[in-house]
Amino acid sequence: MLRFPATLAEQPLIYYLVKDYDLVINIIKANINPHKEGTLIMELSGANYEQGIEYIRSRGVQVQFLTEEIVRNDDRCISCGACTAVCPSGALHIERPDMQVVFDGEQCIVCQLCTKVCPLKAMEAKF
Ligand code: SF4
Ligand code: SF4
Repeated sequence: MLRFPATLAEQPLIYYLVKDYDLVINIIKANINPHKEGTLIMELSGANYEQGIEYIRSRGVQVQFLTEEIVRNDDRCISCGACTAVCPSGALHIERPDMQVVFDGEQCIVCQLCTKVCPLKAMEAKF
């Protein structure tokens, strides 16, 4: 997951990863707007992987490697819904009419945003 500061949001850094480092990129989720901070979740592969990561970090982009799995501690979850507001994949959603928050691990892209907002620390990253 790449986090772009507002100053870099309009620069073609991904283009350079492909052109100069010959990397293969599969963008899973993008949220980048002009003049604002942005995030990009993607799969990245290629022989120059390390150099590409080094390059993009040197330009001021934060790089976070995603863990293998997110699990929910159902005993802690109170279905407050806070995590559903940040989940980009729909893995966390409110089921009506009982308003229970459902977690579908198959849809989870392991961005970890839910682990940061859950007030009860019910969402956990497993390494
Ligand atoms: S934020 Fe935490 S407690 Fe609230 S619904 Fe999500 S997992 Fe459950
Ligand atoms: S890590 Fe959490 S917020 Fe991210 S996709 Fe999975 S369930 Fe949704």
